[in-house]
Amino acid sequence: MARPAPIKHTDLFIDGKWIPALGGETFPVRNPATGEEVARVADGGPRDALTAVAAAHEAFPAWSGESAYFRSRILRNWYDLMNAHRDEIGTLITLENGKPFPEAQGESDYAASFVEWFAEEGKRVYGRTIPPRTSDKRLLALRQPVGVIASITPWNFPAAMATRKLAPALAAGCTAVMRPASQTPLTAIRLVELWEEAGGPPGTLNLVTGRAARPIADALLGDARVRKITFTGSTAVGQELMAKAARNMQRLSLELGGQAPFLVFADADLDTVMKGLIASKYRNAGQACIASNRILVEAGVAGELTRRSAEATRSLKVGNGFDEGVAIGPMIDEAGREKVLAHIADARANGATVVEGGRAVEGPGYFVEPTVLTGVRPGMKVMEEETFGPVIAIAPFGSEEEALALANASPFGLAAYAFTQDASRAWRVAEGLQYGIVGLNDGAPSAAQAPFGGMKLSGMGREGGVEGMDAFLETKYVSWGHIT
Ligand code: NAP
Repeated sequence: MARPAPIKHTDLFIDGKWIPALGGETFPVRNPATGEEVARVADGGPRDALTAVAAAHEAFPAWSGESAYFRSRILRNWYDLMNAHRDEIGTLITLENGKPFPEAQGESDYAASFVEWFAEEGKRVYGRTIPPRTSDKRLLALRQPVGVIASITPWNFPAAMATRKLAPALAAGCTAVMRPASQTPLTAIRLVELWEEAGGPPGTLNLVTGRAARPIADALLGDARVRKITFTGSTAVGQELMAKAARNMQRLSLELGGQAPFLVFADADLDTVMKGLIASKYRNAGQACIASNRILVEAGVAGELTRRSAEATRSLKVGNGFDEGVAIGPMIDEAGREKVLAHIADARANGATVVEGGRAVEGPGYFVEPTVLTGVRPGMKVMEEETFGPVIAIAPFGSEEEALALANASPFGLAAYAFTQDASRAWRVAEGLQYGIVGLNDGAPSAAQAPFGGMKLSGMGREGGVEGMDAFLETKYVSWGHIT
């Protein structure tokens, strides 16, 4: 069932004003479930980005000079407004991203949880005093906001990826320029409208939508007033940003791609495994950085797990996210769908068996049938690369040692999952996995109050938790002498 699009603004938001792009251009936002145009939004470019940086720079002294309690109240208002408008936010997410509406409402709640948590955490930015060697000195470490920050976010969680960065930044006293993915600008616009309504002062949060991803990023990286870039997206773009940030020595947080192993030991409770597998694999139709990608199963239970996976997969309804009972929405675009189909074709060509699904769905939109593959082996694309689609790829293992070796044989290190009822094994495996996040008997580990982020090619820095606030703070050391 279609829902009316709650769209008020389609312009840039700079210095507290809604304004068109300097070039006067707009670009279309399309619904990936139908291919239809939902809206046209301002096509900002590098010059708009620099105007936004100037506004953020101008607003920084006053915003960082306010008390943490003042900022906290505005963040709290923002949180309340997000809750009050969760259906609208959810509608926009489903319209431009395609995920099922209940999932989109859930993302709105998850996005709001970062605002709630950092509204509180902002009051707990503590420095410290350090014992001096002589009695006429006092040594202090102060914690101060890094300055103007720029956030660049992907389309797969258009609300949560934004607030996971912006809430701690704003709570810390930073001002921000936000550049959302060009496929999902409408959710970002709604969040900014609510920030304005919450009492966010002009210039504190600026929004630059636009198709020119690289030129906009280059403008942000080329401006020394921007002191931090916080990015979520692919490893290739993260590497590019890291190289370019060297010039102005901008701080970086990089939340990049993953290739999550999902380990199932024979002693696991299979009901719990299935709950975790469905949650970690089929959320957003597999288009999540922490989506389980390699399902590594101890040989003795591989047959039973395959049977249960096929049964669960068969029952999932694929379709428009606004339709009742839909569990699997579309891929974001044709390129996304092609990638998933290429992974399935590659596995097949190399000897894997398609137990369920495996094809594109005819008609408008970029749908792929949820798929179960068995006989998957290292070297196949599904075992090496991020699939970003609804494919359960099952590979057997013989021992705990082999499972850990297989799991760690990846250049990525974002999330891993392990299912076992043996507490000692759970501990050994959690310690042995070279991943930033480990879900133990848990397929949904994300939480605003916990540090989220990756090792190796999955990036650097953490979002959420005290680490998420730390990412927007500088440490200043003050040595106070001549105290008589
Ligand atoms: P992407 O191509 O890297 O895009 C991410 C963002 O960067 C978008 O806003 C994009 O703009 C922009 N961008 C693209 N090329 C750029 C460039 N050369 N310079 C500066 N910005 C650029 O990633 P994606 O494929 O759309 O997103 C999915 C990826 O994000 C996956 O790898 C996924 O694992 C990762 N991800 C990671 C996390 C995490 O927390 N670790 C969370 C979610 C997603 P346009 O939209 O205009 O192209």
